[in-house]
Amino acid sequence: MPILRFQMTNGRQITVHARSEATVIMQDRALTWTFDVGGRLVGAFREGRNYRRSFSNQIIEKSKSPGSGVSGRARRTLSPDEVRALEVEAYDFAGKVAMELRQLGPAEEGAALEAAQHALAHVNSYCYTSLERERDVYEHIYHPIAIMPPDQYLALYLQMTEGCAFNKCSFCSLFGGQTATERRFRLKPPQVFREHIRRVRAFMGEGLALRHSIFLGDANALVIPQKMLLPRFEILQEEFDILPSGLDLRARKDWTAAHPLYFDGIYSFVDAFSTRQKRAADFAALARLGLRRVYVGLETGDAQLLKFLGKPNTPDDVVRLVNECKAGGVAVGVIVLVGAGGAKYARAHIRHTAQLVNGLPLDAHDFVYLSELIDFPDSMYSHLAARAGIRPLGDKEIQEQMQALRDAFSFPCPARRPQVSINDIREFVY
Ligand code: SF4
Repeated sequence: MPILRFQMTNGRQITVHARSEATVIMQDRALTWTFDVGGRLVGAFREGRNYRRSFSNQIIEKSKSPGSGVSGRARRTLSPDEVRALEVEAYDFAGKVAMELRQLGPAEEGAALEAAQHALAHVNSYCYTSLERERDVYEHIYHPIAIMPPDQYLALYLQMTEGCAFNKCSFCSLFGGQTATERRFRLKPPQVFREHIRRVRAFMGEGLALRHSIFLGDANALVIPQKMLLPRFEILQEEFDILPSGLDLRARKDWTAAHPLYFDGIYSFVDAFSTRQKRAADFAALARLGLRRVYVGLETGDAQLLKFLGKPNTPDDVVRLVNECKAGGVAVGVIVLVGAGGAKYARAHIRHTAQLVNGLPLDAHDFVYLSELIDFPDSMYSHLAARAGIRPLGDKEIQEQMQALRDAFSFPCPARRPQVSINDIREFVY
């Protein structure tokens, strides 16, 4: 898509990049505002800090200054007043750029000018108040979305199920486990799921272009029996253009040209205890209907620690699940819980986790995520840990454990090694 560069009357260099999935306005390479095609503010880069906005109109700020956790970055959630100030600034700025564009003569840039004006007209159809108003619509469509893997932050989230079917892991507060706010697991009947999809699509509007994959929520959407799962995947096939697998380069190019608003596949969390019946043939059937990758919480390869964490499966269940997925043509994201079991379990955790991960049939389609254990006040985990005399790891020790795991991972072929990344659940927004 065309890129327009021009100088504002105040001397600032402006770039407007009207992409097919987003509009990016940049000033002097030091300030960037990103909007979806419909005009919603999505993110910003300003004064060395990154901002990401959620549909519930919250904004997380991340900066490079040292902070706690696996990312080592400082992060915070902006106050409502700060959110308002940032959004007013974004839309004021976009309004000024649009006004100056109107002054540019027809000799300037041609197609790039037209594309920029069109994109900015969408941006300027939004403002702080409309984003606030949208929050109510969003919260009516979705129950709170607790978590997604980082490579799926820009997926289209569909709540086929709500909550977690187990909800008893001692360290997990994502779905209010063991608290008064516990959210009951619920499966949407096919017709309700189809209505949910249509409401989500209407809500997203043109902003849908920013979403390249489909993520099935919540914690373990694939928990349901295969005969109930398949009709829901067929609904997804009916409602969306999902890129078929196995196309060669030419066929893929033709297919994507014919389906401009396509999704590259379906993704979901899966657990290793409720899916013991699922075999490679089941995953292959789901892969034919678009399933591309599943994310499984290994947490640790140490059987004793896993038990302490309250997981109702063994490390071997994860090995079995990963083998069945891979044999069925579905990639995996394996999540390791850095800091689990504190100082007491640290050595065993590193050794057994690396051993297990190194034995998995992982390749370049797979991820290994290093996710820090975030203990929440009064959790079952903190009670158990206190009783067992477990000292939690400090920030430096967390970094060291993460590095020790990275060093201990060994994948036979460097060109086909899985991506090892961090997953800081405090940085998630949707
Ligand atoms: S860790 Fe996963 S399986 Fe365990 S309670 Fe949390 S969401 Fe459920």
